[in-house]
Amino acid sequence: MFTQKEEIKWICPQCGSQNTKTVDSRVSVKEEPDCRKQILDTTFFQMTCPQCGQKEYYLGPLFYVDEEAKQMIAMGAVPAFEKEKENYLALGYAVRSVPGIVELCEKILIWQAGLDDRIVELVKAADTVLLKGQEFDEMLYAPDEDAVYIELIKDGASAGRLPFLDAVYDDMQERFGALLQNDYDDETIIDLKWAAEFFLEHYQTEK
Ligand SMILES: [Zn+2]
Repeated sequence: MFTQKEEIKWICPQCGSQNTKTVDSRVSVKEEPDCRKQILDTTFFQMTCPQCGQKEYYLGPLFYVDEEAKQMIAMGAVPAFEKEKENYLALGYAVRSVPGIVELCEKILIWQAGLDDRIVELVKAADTVLLKGQEFDEMLYAPDEDAVYIELIKDGASAGRLPFLDAVYDDMQERFGALLQNDYDDETIIDLKWAAEFFLEHYQTEK
């Protein structure tokens, strides 16, 4: 059994009462087929204070594994991550480390769409050129009902969005796909900063 539950104590910031909650510290899609849906709608993480009804979120660590797709994501400080990482890489898994719920959901959405998250980050980095100094904290891959967008987040709220262009994705894939396949298999933190550094290293020489 991969899935593991743990009892945690948490203090309600609203009323100060001490509560306990059973949370998943490890979850497997094979064992808990509904977990992905619950993660994406955040019910997976919700904790409700029995005293005052305040809703809080369990922020990790969480070790997420999808055996069928061979994907592993560590959210927060997963115990013994380095060792786990080596094991899963050796089994041919994509291994990622993310800071929080938003980033975990984003990885799952990208992979659900059959995309390579590294290419998606390169698309975002290319998009930043269009933004010319517009301020944001984060750019998120954001599928909507009719189309897919790159959403800009500033202070926890949306600050606008750009269309996610398949043509740009395909171009990046064509340009860098082979290189990523060969040289970047063991990188686990794949974010905008990673993409910016990748461009610095490769963009000029690849032209
Ligand atoms: Zn409370």
